[in-house]
Amino acid sequence: MDRKVRVRFAPSPTGGLHIGGVRTALYNYLIAKKYNGTMILRIEDTDQTRYVEGAEEYIREALEWIGITLDESPWHGGEYAPYRQSERKAIYKKYVEQLIKEGHAYYAFDTEEEWDKKRKELEAAGVVSPQYNSITRMQMKNSLTLSEEEVKAKLTSGEPYVVRLKVPRKEDIRVQDMIRGWVVFHSSLLDDKVLLKSDGMPTYHLANVVDDYLMEISHVIRGEEWLPSAPIHILLYKYFGWEQEMPQFAHLPLILNPDGNGKLSKRYADQLGFPVFPLQWKNPEKNETMAGYREEGYLPEAMVNFLVLLGWNAGTEQEIFSIQELTNLFSIERIGKSGTKFDINKAKWFNQQYLKGKSNEELTQLFIIDLNKKGIALSQDKAEKIVSILKERVTFVKDFMTEGHYLFHAPTIFDEQVASKKWNQQVVDVLLAYKNIIQSLDKELDAHTAKELLNQITDQLSIKFGSIMQGVRLAITGGGAGADLMEIIAFLGEKEVSERIDYAITHLKVV
Ligand code: GLU
Repeated sequence: MDRKVRVRFAPSPTGGLHIGGVRTALYNYLIAKKYNGTMILRIEDTDQTRYVEGAEEYIREALEWIGITLDESPWHGGEYAPYRQSERKAIYKKYVEQLIKEGHAYYAFDTEEEWDKKRKELEAAGVVSPQYNSITRMQMKNSLTLSEEEVKAKLTSGEPYVVRLKVPRKEDIRVQDMIRGWVVFHSSLLDDKVLLKSDGMPTYHLANVVDDYLMEISHVIRGEEWLPSAPIHILLYKYFGWEQEMPQFAHLPLILNPDGNGKLSKRYADQLGFPVFPLQWKNPEKNETMAGYREEGYLPEAMVNFLVLLGWNAGTEQEIFSIQELTNLFSIERIGKSGTKFDINKAKWFNQQYLKGKSNEELTQLFIIDLNKKGIALSQDKAEKIVSILKERVTFVKDFMTEGHYLFHAPTIFDEQVASKKWNQQVVDVLLAYKNIIQSLDKELDAHTAKELLNQITDQLSIKFGSIMQGVRLAITGGGAGADLMEIIAFLGEKEVSERIDYAITHLKVV
């Protein structure tokens, strides 16, 4: 890469950052790291009507959680500050004036009602979805149709206006995209986008291009939904005379609903019961709380691994990648064009892999934090034992409690199916004998001893170990499946095991 790599993530603080936005941020970050470049965060808050309190803080926290560090941002500062577009309002004015002077933009004085009226007329005349464009603008109230004096008079009298881009009538606008190759748009399909609003604020298109230029952005990596805006941006670069400095574009493939139908939506995700936000999001305006991956118990490193593969592949069989590894391996060339289905089971699988990869000490710490949150006290020693018994079976830290419920509470109800098939006199005899042996044991009841003693009994009674195992498990845990039973027995100790045996024998009927 000959140009110094400077990439930006440019969210608008209009609500909780969608998980797709986190993927965009991640891809930008990986490219910055790979080429020793600069990762910039710019807040695009020019649309004050859509501003949502707390959204900016949310973006910051979400990126921190996932492990994306920023080199320049509103919070860290940097040479190109300010990084919040609302604080750059004064900067855009001169660029708009330049475009007007050079005939690439014009003042438009039409009120919304006037345009609405015109639109309806056009519709009635058979025009499908009329636009304010190279044809219709000539029937409207703007500096292309009014005399110079009229325009001046309106401006001096303070009449509200917007500034629109003068999109050429018939021109092919070619966008070179690093993922899609050349994409051609015909200018007749574009409308004369508003560049400056009546409140004096720039629109997204103007602010985005001016800032990318001023901040010396080398690559614009963003979601596919912005591809239709690219021709407008290309025109702006051309009219400003910045074609040499124009960034390279990469529009990322869509993240699709699990069935492949349409862009991943909150409604769909709600139905299937998974979040679309990295962190829990409390919408201050609607008094709504939306679930987040962090609160659901996902590890940030698992999320990184899951998200990076939604659109990129390494071209090998490898599936587990650390963020550090990705900073070497990641490349725009290996990002696919077509949308990727969102598969929550894959996210869970990654979480499980990353949990398994942690040391028992680390997991115990996480488990204790989780227990504390729930107001449950447990000794370090016990927590560590539970971790080692269940480590292979959990997907989330919170599963230690649910998966291992029988380590915390004696069963009071028993799986009926297992009971009807596996509970019989033989099991009862074995359990009674077992209880006797463990109660008079003069050494520690570890997993090895627990097994040896049970073996002794089945040998003496000449029955197969396998034939009573599930019955024994039923008595101790209430179910027919779970972690290593001998580990469970050792964890519970002889007193608790004896009590559970008594309880089961008095409550389960022999058939
Ligand atoms: N502000 C836009 C957004 O909310 C940024 C799009 C772009 O990266 O150009 O996603």
